[in-house]
Amino acid sequence: MNERNGGMTADLVVIGAGGAGLPAAITAQEHGLDRVVVLEKRPLIGGNAGMSGGFLFAVQSRPQREAALKNAPDTVFRDTMAYNHYDGVDPRLVRLWVDEADETVRWLEERGIGYRPVPGRDLGVEPSGWSNHPGSFQRVMETLAERFTADGGQIFTKAVAAEIIGSPETGVSAVVADTRNGRITIETPRVVLATGGFTGNVDLLHEKFPGIYDEDVYWTDTKRLAGDGIALAGAVGADTGGRSFLIKENCYSFKTKKNRPNRASMEPRCLWVNARGERFLDESTGMVNATANALTAQPGMAGYALFDDALVQYVIDQPDPFAGEARPGEEDPTAWTSGGYRSTLRDALADPANSEWCVAADDWPEIARWIGADPEALAASVREYNGYADDGRDALWAKDPEYLVPLRKPPFYALRFRPLMIDTAGPLRIDKDLHVLDPQSRPVPRLFGAGSVVGGWIGFDEHRFGTPLSWAISSGRIAGSRAARG
Ligand SMILES: Cc1cc2nc3c(=O)[nH]c(=O)nc-3n(C[C@H](O)[C@H](O)[C@H](O)COP(=O)(O)OP(=O)(O)OC[C@H]3O[C@@H](n4cnc5c(N)ncnc54)[C@H](O)[C@@H]3O)c2cc1C
Repeated sequence: MNERNGGMTADLVVIGAGGAGLPAAITAQEHGLDRVVVLEKRPLIGGNAGMSGGFLFAVQSRPQREAALKNAPDTVFRDTMAYNHYDGVDPRLVRLWVDEADETVRWLEERGIGYRPVPGRDLGVEPSGWSNHPGSFQRVMETLAERFTADGGQIFTKAVAAEIIGSPETGVSAVVADTRNGRITIETPRVVLATGGFTGNVDLLHEKFPGIYDEDVYWTDTKRLAGDGIALAGAVGADTGGRSFLIKENCYSFKTKKNRPNRASMEPRCLWVNARGERFLDESTGMVNATANALTAQPGMAGYALFDDALVQYVIDQPDPFAGEARPGEEDPTAWTSGGYRSTLRDALADPANSEWCVAADDWPEIARWIGADPEALAASVREYNGYADDGRDALWAKDPEYLVPLRKPPFYALRFRPLMIDTAGPLRIDKDLHVLDPQSRPVPRLFGAGSVVGGWIGFDEHRFGTPLSWAISSGRIAGSRAARG
């Protein structure tokens, strides 16, 4: 970046040092732009991506090919379009997401970040070589940032992009930012907008998601993401009225990750009921993000995972899949994962200090009172479920018989769970070259959009696990290369 007349000039300004922004900056640099500047409003780079575990959607990436997993991109594309009812998703962006996913894995591997197949999920890969708990991807983001700055790029942290200067006719010409050293204007012919979603913008969440957003229901770690990019782009003529989606996950309990047993409700042998005491889903679907839709349709958007003492003992006796994976300097992964709560589950469920989230009781009527359900309704659900377990066949949800066990041994336990806000998608619109579009679907010259601030790549829920991060990195790479070209 050059300083000129008290101002600055750059070949490209990337707004946001997260999952899309850093790949965009690195790719632009690799495509020949010398003076690439990244603005990041937080003191740390990484964004929502740094909070993730790094799971990626992929189809035929190296780890999947080596594991002889055979999935065809065209099949995934068709399946995704049909799954979304051909509504709210742009076929060219879904195509880009599918077709670029494997290259994104290769791109990361080329930068020293190993990947392996995810057991039980053909369409996805997870980082290998370190624990994959939420937050571990920050290390990858820092690796990418180091590489970018080593090659001459500049990252300004605590630098809030306050305005993009330009017009729909002439395109962008500068970015105004509030930095540690005051307000600066960076003259630039190109901007990549990668400011992420708006999970921290309560007003916008209410506006965009009435009915599926309710304060105090969603567990989130992403409150700082205010959706700044929407107004920034709107001021230079972009259409800010596109569709938006809330990306959710199921089975979160407690408000902070220090609490346990955060995700014990994902134990597939539990019985799940709602606040009326009615069973509402196949309990073994806890890992499927789309099931958060069923959860948000329940009264109070809450579910209750029921255990008996035999099931708690079964859980305690299972080996911890994450044992030994913590690395020096990393947060304790077991605080989050499905493994780490195991040994202390019984005590945690019975601890009166946790009574907002869980309870132990000698009989089901007491559990029903804690839930607020009619004791008869809960008793009927338990009776029906135990009958299915005795028969070895779930005549309602067809749950895998492996997970059907009767709950008859007191004490009994209930754990309340609710959805997590992973991110939002939209509402900016882009074309297949990632130009941000105006209301007439014309590109705003040299303004590119990537990651979650744009929509069209995902529908009502996360159909394929690992989609948001895969999209962020892929769209960031493409935006960086198109920006270098344009
Ligand atoms: C706990 C958790 C786990 C997750 N795990 C996964 C997973 O395993 N797999 C998966 O696919 N997805 C996962 N996700 C979702 C995924 O991380 C995000 O969808 C993805 O990171 C979005 O990338 P992005 O670049 O659009 O936004 P971000 O990564 O959020 O980056 C946006 C950046 O822009 C900055 N910014 C915003 N406004 C301004 C401004 N005005 N000026 C300067 N900077 C600004 C923000 O501070 C932020 O750093 C997870 C999310 C959470 C919360």
